[in-house]
Order: sequence, then C-alpha cells, then structure tokens
Amino acid sequence: MREMKEGSAGLHVSSLGDEIVGRINELAAISEAPAHLARVFLTKEHRAAADLILAWMRSAGMRAHLDAIGNVCGRYEGERPGLPCLMLGSHYDTVYDAGKWDGPLGLLTAISCVADLNRRGRRLPFAIEVTGFADEEGVRFASTLLGSRAVAGTFVESVLGTRDAAGVSMRDALVQFGLDPDHIGAAARARSELLAYVELHIEQGPVLEAKNLPVGVVTAIAGATRLAASLTGMAGHAGTVPMALRRDALAGAAECIGAIEAFCRTDEGGLVGTVGYIHAMPGATNVIPGQVSFTLDIRAPTDAHRKLAVTDIVRQIERIAKRRKLGLQVDVTHENRTVPCAPWLRRQVAEAIAGEGYPVFELPSGAGHDGMAMIDIADVAMVFVRCRGGISHHPDEHVEVADADAGARVLLRLIENFRTRDAAE
Ligand SMILES: [Zn+2]
Repeated sequence: MREMKEGSAGLHVSSLGDEIVGRINELAAISEAPAHLARVFLTKEHRAAADLILAWMRSAGMRAHLDAIGNVCGRYEGERPGLPCLMLGSHYDTVYDAGKWDGPLGLLTAISCVADLNRRGRRLPFAIEVTGFADEEGVRFASTLLGSRAVAGTFVESVLGTRDAAGVSMRDALVQFGLDPDHIGAAARARSELLAYVELHIEQGPVLEAKNLPVGVVTAIAGATRLAASLTGMAGHAGTVPMALRRDALAGAAECIGAIEAFCRTDEGGLVGTVGYIHAMPGATNVIPGQVSFTLDIRAPTDAHRKLAVTDIVRQIERIAKRRKLGLQVDVTHENRTVPCAPWLRRQVAEAIAGEGYPVFELPSGAGHDGMAMIDIADVAMVFVRCRGGISHHPDEHVEVADADAGARVLLRLIENFRTRDAAE
C-alpha cells in the first residue's frame, strides 16, 4: 500500500515549468481560428491575449500597462523605486497555423520568474521589466519587429501606410484597436533605463536536442542576406534542339544550386545557405526552359563571414552562367546585420546554466528575434530552450515541461545573480 503524506495535495507547490506550460496552453486558446493557432497584430485576439498577460503580470507583483504600439509592459521595482531595469521579454503574436511556444515561452517564463521573486519578497538592486512584444513575426503587415522597434525608438513612421491583405492600413488598425498612430514614439525607451535585454526563446532548431541538452547560450543572432537570381538561356523544342546547342536555364540553375549547397556544406563556421524558391519559364514538359529565377538566403554568425560567403557564391554562379552562355542577374533583396550577444551577458547566462547543473553549450541563432531591434538601446543576451525535433512555426512545435522548468530556473538564477556591465567587467 502506498503511503500517503497527510495534506500532501494541499502542500503541493507546482514547479515553474508547470505554471508556464499551463499558461502556454491558456494563451494558445486565444486564436482567430478554432482549428489552428493564429494571433496577429491589432486584432481582437491580440487584445484578449494582452488582457490575460497583463493580469498575470499584476498577479506576479508587477505594475503593468499596454504601451503605445500594443506591447504588454510589466515592471517589478527593485530595492527602491525608479531604478534602471533588467528587461526580459519575447513576443506574443504568432504566424498562421503556429506552434504555441514560439514567443510566449520566453514571455511567460519571465513572468513566472518575477512571480517567484515576489512570493519570496525578494527585491534586487535593480528593477525587472517584462515586455511582451505585440508584433515580431510581421504576419499582418509584412513588416517584422514592430513591437520591439517601437520600444527601441526605431519604428519607421512610413510603415503606418502599409495595408494588410484586407486593405486595412496599419494606421486605421491602430485606431480601431484604441491606439494613437501619431504617438507611437511614447513606447520608446531610453538606453539609460535599461541595464540589458535578455530573452529566453525556443531554439527552433535541432541542435540542443542532438546534444541532449535542455538549454543553451546564444552567441549571436545571425545576420541574413537574401538574393534573387535570374538566369536567361534560350527556350526551344525538347525534341529538336541537340544537347550541345542548348542554353538550358533550369539545368544551369540546378548546377548553381548544387554548387551553393556544396559550398555551404564545406564551411565549418556555421554558414547556412538555402534556395527556397525556384520558377522556370515557360514551364512546360516539352520546352527547354529559357528563363529561371530563384532565391538564395545566406546566414552566418558574423557579418564578415556572411559577406565573404555571398561574394564567393555569386562568383561561382557567375562562372557557371558564363560557361553555359546564360545571362545572369543577381540582386540583393534583403540584408540584416548580425546581432552579437554581449560577452559580459553571455558569461552570466553560462554561469546560470552551469549553476543549475547543465553543461554549457553555445550556439548561434539562425532565426531572427526581438533582440535585433533591442540592440539599438541595450546589450542583448539570449537563452535557448530545446524543442522537439527542432520543429517551429508549425503546430507540432513542442517543449517538454521539464525543459520549460530548466529554462525558468536558469533565467531565475541569472536574474538573482545579475551584475551590471560595470560590475561584471
Ligand atoms: Zn519567436
């Protein structure tokens, strides 16, 4: 017979992981479609999610409000009011047919950490602020990081004119939501108010799982260059043009794609290159393709490395096009810089991970995050939490409760042992 401890049910205190996962599920129920998760900027689901998160912030002992762009902002004062803050955060918007962990895990973990400090009456020599960014994914207006850009003071006014798929401008959507598009500047924070910005996020990749580790230290958010390439040959009859006389743009593109993959595979510095889109013209079974366009996305942990790789890859594509007598046009369509995580903060993340008894493992982030905007007003660090199969932006996205709990304990230890840059260096 199993021995029952008297009153054990009443004494049971759930772990931080249990609380976080319970709230992840509650938040995931706020979706514009019942069958899949979708929660985008300035919708009634955005509002409902904000209200729920604000309530959780208040119950964690924070003052909380919605800012001028729709971010949720909570503040837990330090040993005395008005001290600069350690800012924690992540986003609470989603892609369409999303997983429920991307964004909310970092936000809800931060709130649970503050709640834990509050339960113990623990005040620190700095304030803690938790920010839930209203739009990171950029789903509705095809412009990313709107929430964190507003906080960093780098929100570009011209995006207010952008329209969603239904033709509603961002300006009108803000008004309908109850916000004033002419006062987004009020969301901006000053560098002097922030000691650092630290974000916990699911890895969205398979590396921690392969290493059998629940958490990792992010070294940098990889910059990206996107290119559009177009090869022009000569369309012709699939039956009558001899092989030696062909200028087949698709066969040329295939050789280019093979060369890009081979180039990136031999790189040992974390370079990744992806051809994710290809279009062949005229696109018929019995016609030699005369024109092919494809895209190329290249990322690396440093800007210098990425730029060198882009130069080398373009040179290879040029050589292939020349040998095959194909016309070539290559344009850069998008470029963003690498955001390095600050060494003084990385050390503290590593110490917190080691302090919880896990091996310290460092990895770059191939995906973009709010830190890319926050770097303009604060030094940035990130903690990654393992997710199953590395799957993200998909309903199969999954984090084990034990890993959510490990992430929370690491973040809490980091907060409680946090030293400012001056004290740390
Ligand atoms: Zn995210």
